[in-house]
Amino acid sequence: MTDAFGCVNDNLAAIRGNIAEAADKCGRRPEDVRIMAVTKTVAPEAVNRAVELGVGLLGENRVQEFLSKQDAYDSSAEIHFIGHLQTNKVKDIIEPMSMIQSVDSVKLAQEINRLASAHNKTMDILCEVNIGGEDSKSGIAPDSLTELLEAAASMENLRVRGLMTIPPPASGDIFLGRMEELFHKVRDMNIRGVSMDVLSMGMTHDYTDAVKHGSTLVRIGTGLFGARDYSKK
Ligand SMILES: *Cc1c(COP(=O)(O)O)cnc(C)c1O
Repeated sequence: MTDAFGCVNDNLAAIRGNIAEAADKCGRRPEDVRIMAVTKTVAPEAVNRAVELGVGLLGENRVQEFLSKQDAYDSSAEIHFIGHLQTNKVKDIIEPMSMIQSVDSVKLAQEINRLASAHNKTMDILCEVNIGGEDSKSGIAPDSLTELLEAAASMENLRVRGLMTIPPPASGDIFLGRMEELFHKVRDMNIRGVSMDVLSMGMTHDYTDAVKHGSTLVRIGTGLFGARDYSKK
């Protein structure tokens, strides 16, 4: 393709190839790994190109930016919220999102549940785990995860579907491995109302390793759209 967003086509082909290769190496099926296009700072035209090429899932980090772009998005795309979410912003995203991946406190879960109920919907959620124990990161500590899962699972308008994580940068695959273990541990606990079918893990720099560690959903920004230009946002 020779238009302004032609690179998205090539990038996506490369990502699909890399996922297929990584999945193949560990006996997984490539179709069990979903690709999410992470849209922060990316123009809606480029985002829509990805949707046209078959990436049916978009990831939004920032409420304000999302609100300014949502009308321009291809309406066939499914949208998940993946950024840090303040309770007072939940009302702005409760309708358009089909999943909130960044639930890291009972308080936030309660607010999502309250608004989901008011909108007559059941919201799919993931609990975000701070697997590296970094002070700077959001996410629940692994030790407190069970408590959060049980609390969220008891809320009528939430459906707990799995876990999400952003491992510390440049940490190799140590934390991907720990996350894989934690995911299996929680799944084997069979907590009532909790289904562990989504492990959202892997970004541009580590998605092939994440696939080897059981990720079912990789979140790709720069690898798909090129380097982010924050000056435009
Ligand atoms: C920005 C972001 C990504 C994508 O990061 P890239 O390195 O650009 O692929 C994935 N997940 C979250 C939560 C993000 O904020």
